[in-house]
Amino acid sequence: MMSASPKPAHSEIPLSRPDITELEEQYVLQTLRSGRLSIGPVVERFEDLVAARVNCRHGVAVNSGTGGLHLALLALGVGPGDEVITTPFSFVASANCILMVGATPKFIDICPRTLNMDPAKLAAAIGPRTKAILAVETFGNPAYFDQYQAIAARHEIPIIEDCCEALGATLKGQPAGSFGRIGVFGFYPNKQITTGEGGMIVTNDSRLADMCKSLRNQGRPLGWSAPKAAEPTHGGTATGSWLRHERLGYNYRLSEINAAIGCAQMRRLDEMIAKRQQVAQRYWERLGGHKDLVLPTVEENVSQSWFVYVVRLAPTYTMEERDSIIRGLRAHDIGASDYFPCIHLQQHFLQPAGNLSYLPQHQPGMFPIAESVSNRTIALPFYNQMTKKDVDIVAMTLEVMIQRENLRRG
Ligand SMILES: *Cc1c(COP(=O)(O)O)cnc(C)c1O
Repeated sequence: MMSASPKPAHSEIPLSRPDITELEEQYVLQTLRSGRLSIGPVVERFEDLVAARVNCRHGVAVNSGTGGLHLALLALGVGPGDEVITTPFSFVASANCILMVGATPKFIDICPRTLNMDPAKLAAAIGPRTKAILAVETFGNPAYFDQYQAIAARHEIPIIEDCCEALGATLKGQPAGSFGRIGVFGFYPNKQITTGEGGMIVTNDSRLADMCKSLRNQGRPLGWSAPKAAEPTHGGTATGSWLRHERLGYNYRLSEINAAIGCAQMRRLDEMIAKRQQVAQRYWERLGGHKDLVLPTVEENVSQSWFVYVVRLAPTYTMEERDSIIRGLRAHDIGASDYFPCIHLQQHFLQPAGNLSYLPQHQPGMFPIAESVSNRTIALPFYNQMTKKDVDIVAMTLEVMIQRENLRRG
């Protein structure tokens, strides 16, 4: 068998890197040899592992976080004419899923310290068309989610928790994933755990869980269950035929192979969270006190599960200077990125067309805090295997690039 996690031959320090060991290899091999590659026991085991970890009764595995969010909105009955309040400072999928069901994202600005939606603006934004709140734990930070819960309860509006970046984080001991009526994790390779591609819907509501299971599986009847022997391809089961479809559904299933990777990763979750914590700590020790940098803060009552390590330049820096620093890091074989460009400034929000022509036009200046933050962020390399030396190389190069920008300014 090949050795686990070979070190790359070149000296690049990538932005992110999955942490795959012989345990993942073993689980995948077992699954490959089991003769069952989809709709089987490994997916169910993975669902139970994630749901139990975040204190939810049900887990529904899907083939991406985006697919999971799409199903969560469908299961809650969000559709055309509805508004969903969400953040403009996130990965684009957290707003695109609202467009997928024909609803309208109503963006509100963020708090500059936590980078999450400002709770005061959330309460003020709720109106007669508000069907749901889609709250994102930005970079894995669950700050304010207790306040979102209180506001949502007062208005009797469900929260959809986009916890794609937050597996393992807690606020006052409550795990990310358990704040919403329904929550969705993502398992792309840069997340806390990966399945290659994948996601997990979590909820305490068995009706929502059943609906999501039907929707991910071509609209097969609620309560449909697979025969025990092999992947179903035809014929009847106890609860309905393989070829009976009760609603418009999708194929958002996660394969047994991907779920096997996920089961191994879940067994190693605490170990991986601890490694990430150590890397974050090293960055803090190395870059804390730099006068031109704002480092991520951890709120009181929050137990952080680090997704990425994103620093930001002081407000005196322009976006062009930030971009130049990122290019400088990359030229020195150091991965860096501008997490995140504001969603409302992406082309399909600036100039909505075709099936999005029902959307209002968005423009620069609408969400000044999100825009100001977004223009100055730099995501630095962040992965479990990062050594103290790697962090030192990144920090030193970043300092030099900032200095270069200051000299250029004159
Ligand atoms: C990663 C992520 C998703 C889902 O991404 P997929 O690539 O579809 O798994 C959704 N929302 C946020 C905020 C994310 O970071």
